[in-house]
Amino acid sequence: MQKINILLKILLGFASLLTLLAPLRASHADQSAASTTPPPHLFQLDEIAPGVLVHQGETAMMSASNLGGIANLGAIIGDEAVAVIDTGGSLIEAKTFLQALREKTAKPIRYVINTHAHPDHTFGNGAFRAPGVTFVGHKNLPLALATRGSFYLSAFQETMGSTLQGVEIIPPNLTVTDQLTLDLGDRKLQLIAWKTAHSDCDLTITDQTSGTLFAGDLLFLRHVPVVDGSLLGFLEVAEQLAAIPAKRVVPGHGPVVTAWPDALNDQRAYLLRLTADLRSAIRKGSGVSETVKTAGRDEAAKWSLFENYNARNATTGYAELEWETP
Ligand SMILES: [Zn+2]
Repeated sequence: MQKINILLKILLGFASLLTLLAPLRASHADQSAASTTPPPHLFQLDEIAPGVLVHQGETAMMSASNLGGIANLGAIIGDEAVAVIDTGGSLIEAKTFLQALREKTAKPIRYVINTHAHPDHTFGNGAFRAPGVTFVGHKNLPLALATRGSFYLSAFQETMGSTLQGVEIIPPNLTVTDQLTLDLGDRKLQLIAWKTAHSDCDLTITDQTSGTLFAGDLLFLRHVPVVDGSLLGFLEVAEQLAAIPAKRVVPGHGPVVTAWPDALNDQRAYLLRLTADLRSAIRKGSGVSETVKTAGRDEAAKWSLFENYNARNATTGYAELEWETP
């Protein structure tokens, strides 16, 4: 009996300790969530044309401190509904985006369009899942997310930890094979699905009312271009993109520009330099590990994050160009 009493006391003591700790743990969690979620007024969402909102991401790698907020995000408001373009690099960023958007309009979000599969553009999708919302993407986006989504999540969890809490990989339920027009109520968006370029699932959106082109990562400014699809495809598709008449262009990374298609010049110069360097190295018979140290290097000073991506781009390009007939 004595023993049972002691055991009970211990158990009760343990239980009350847990009860005591529970609110502490909860308030600690609330505090850390509060300190990592920026208030919506700090989330800059600019109206770059009537009914066209853009948040410019930081030119940086995704990290816990920037909450994955490195890609440009957008929203277009029609008479009846809203389309969101890309959702950000974490659920926290996406929720803040949604709150900031709600301060500008109460109209329902009808479409969430992902310009491609990369985590900085898709990790926030979960914040927008609601009845009546259609997720839209390139015909290759479901496969890209199915094959890479869980890898992206576990890889970024290593560096971003709990900032990625709640992130879900959400594929589109409406896909674009070639072109598609969406209507937001007297406001038409033209979507184009491109062949493999920056990635294998690049989609652009043109708001016909304002003449605004959302180029996704088919246009990089300041941030060194990233080649995750095809080097030659990127060059070719960017030239086709140049033919779209646009009054202003929102790149995937970097500032909104009006000088179009001149805004493509720096990216073209980088991709051409990389291509020429790779071709000459391959002709000379230099191996991939040696080549990626030098190819494209003349462009280093012109770009942010050059060291983070250039060798990777050169590796992708080398594998592609190696098989060209000389
Ligand atoms: Zn990308």
